[in-house]
Amino acid sequence: MAHLRFKALDLANNRPKVKVESNGKISEYFASDVFGLPQMQASLSPDVFKRVKKIIHDGSKIDSETADAVASAAKSWAISKGATHFTHWFQPLTGSTAEKHDTFFDASSGMERFKGTALVQQEPDASSFPNGGIRSTFEARGYTAWDPSSPMFIYGATLCVPTVFVAYTGEALDNKAPLLKAVEAVDKAATRVCQLFDKKVSRVKASLGCEQEYFVIDKALFASRPDLVMAGRAVFGHNPARGQQLDDHYFGSIPTRIYNYMKDFETESLKLGIPVSTRHNEVAPSQFEVAPLFEDINVATDHNQLLMDVMSRVAERHNLKVLFHEKPFAGLNGSGKHNNWSLITDTGVNLFQPSTSARENLLFLTFFVCTIKAVFEHAELLRASIASAGNDHRLGANEAPPAIMSVFLGSQLTAVLDELEKNGNIKVEKGDNIYMKLGIDKIPPIILDNTDRNRTSPFAFTGNKFEFRAVGSTDNPATPMTVLNTIVAEQLTEFYQLVDKDMKKGTDKRLAIVGVLRKYIKDSKAVRFEGDGYSEDWVKEAAKRGLANVKDTPRALDAYLSKKSRELFANQGIMNPVELEARNEIQWENYIMKIQIESRVMADLVQNHIIPTAIAYQNKLIQNAKGLKELGVKNTQVLKIIESMSGYIESLEAEVEKMTNARKKANVIEDAREKAIAYCDDVKGKYFESIRYAVDKLELIVDDEDWPLVKYREMLFLR
Ligand code: ADP
Ligand code: MG
Repeated sequence: MAHLRFKALDLANNRPKVKVESNGKISEYFASDVFGLPQMQASLSPDVFKRVKKIIHDGSKIDSETADAVASAAKSWAISKGATHFTHWFQPLTGSTAEKHDTFFDASSGMERFKGTALVQQEPDASSFPNGGIRSTFEARGYTAWDPSSPMFIYGATLCVPTVFVAYTGEALDNKAPLLKAVEAVDKAATRVCQLFDKKVSRVKASLGCEQEYFVIDKALFASRPDLVMAGRAVFGHNPARGQQLDDHYFGSIPTRIYNYMKDFETESLKLGIPVSTRHNEVAPSQFEVAPLFEDINVATDHNQLLMDVMSRVAERHNLKVLFHEKPFAGLNGSGKHNNWSLITDTGVNLFQPSTSARENLLFLTFFVCTIKAVFEHAELLRASIASAGNDHRLGANEAPPAIMSVFLGSQLTAVLDELEKNGNIKVEKGDNIYMKLGIDKIPPIILDNTDRNRTSPFAFTGNKFEFRAVGSTDNPATPMTVLNTIVAEQLTEFYQLVDKDMKKGTDKRLAIVGVLRKYIKDSKAVRFEGDGYSEDWVKEAAKRGLANVKDTPRALDAYLSKKSRELFANQGIMNPVELEARNEIQWENYIMKIQIESRVMADLVQNHIIPTAIAYQNKLIQNAKGLKELGVKNTQVLKIIESMSGYIESLEAEVEKMTNARKKANVIEDAREKAIAYCDDVKGKYFESIRYAVDKLELIVDDEDWPLVKYREMLFLR
């Protein structure tokens, strides 16, 4: 069996160089495959263009005449660039993207056609997309509808139209529809709060910049490991002698093969209008990061999903495989997708940008404190929004940060909030400088240096934005961003109501604002944490503070269905209980499937690869022991090894059998949640670790020449 491993290694180590074309100046090809505003302006009549711009700006409904004009222009543009097909591109709840290609060519007329109706709405064959029972309950079918706020683009030879996917009864069947609603909700609530300060603000946009972490390994090595192929992570494998202890990879130069790959996928991404801007090594060997410039949340989300797809496809050309799993290699750093988030007004103000002016700082503090309060109120929901089988390895596993949601502010802002909390009950007389009396006239401009950055915080303020770091690297950012924007919208709505009530009683506006902020600061104190989020002490401290620490996905998801969450989503008009339940159902099923696959792969590998290899090697040792004995030479050491191997082999046989039985027991459970919990506790929880332990021990004993699986050190130190 080991011959497969060596064949793969041989392939991996003797790859011919892949040539990467130089593409010249980025400005010359950026967004060249995007049908954006400039392309529309160039191809539509001024009148139609004005209408389209309005539709994009305020989300109004498109009339058939405008739709026809846009479709026709998009078709001509796409065909001129070599496209033959079009598709409605959407993000079903499977967690990736979906498309069904139709040709422009109309055989009956012998011409290429693309009608407005085909642009605006389509009915994909949706029966195979998960819907958590929504469609069977309502016997409704689903359709995709054009989302004009995200531009069309050409991918391959296909014009892709970004769309939402909804049931005819109105329920969302995708990740994007709820996100668009949440973005609208936060816009509405934030705009009203802004108008307490500045009447000129008429819109607030939520922005997102995703830092995407990933691993890259050689394609042949990937293909040689059934666990990577089927589960996306190595279920076995002993840590290499040199892991990430030296931290040398982080600062090191990027290996040439990877560098070429990066340049290549960046070029493709830039053509698609994805503003990728930074690349670097990450903490673990073979781990890297790419980050685009931030954009409107909706577009940033589409771009992240597209980027992941581009990265996977381009990797093929380089004989590489990109791994987005949160923890492909136990013992090494996991991968996340840091969601950098802020709110920006149409007057150009980033509401999370501290200022030197006192008046503007009160505005900043309002949004800052409301966000902290929102995280405090809905910490469990926020945790649920990033729950997945993969992310469980990052949150709450032995070597990862805990699943406790806390907010890091930095020392300066902590001091500001502390002062504001103290200096509340002031008397103000005519002519007083209220800001001075409150102590918020002298907020220092925030200079964040690296010492004031806390890499262990799941939700950190980083100068002019919040960074939700606990998001998993495979996650569609739409899910956590739907929750974050919804809870902030809810908090801002409440904030406005409280301030308004006070003002109606005759309180000075600024004092009313400060009054509510002080209350929020006091109420939400428990969620603020500046220390080491990875430490054991924090787990204890958080428990004392009453913060939740839900370690596994099946139970974390419950937060979506709590009374508080249902009310939240209903108040903000994001999702109804049926949609929430359907989504959880899908997530539980997804979890079950993932653990089931991992468990099966483990059993297969143990029974068909590990045990036969171990026995064969053990037989060699037995021969050796017998020979030594015949010669009258001491053979105690060999006998010891034989014995310890027997122990591991026996325990593997027994554990795998018990695990298989646990799976059988779990499989007859009807209820998705209970079944997911059975998989979590009785299959994964009881057996995964002990099975891995025995296999990894055998890896250390068996002759390297015989070992069937490509080893960590062979996969991870690619040059
Ligand atoms: P880091 O030091 O954490 O790597 P960067 O400044 O490089 O932070 O930014 C990381 C990501 O945050 C990038 O995608 C960047 O565009 C994004 N970002 C920066 N400012 C904002 C903002 N105001 N709102 C949202 N995202 C932002
Ligand atoms: Mg960052």
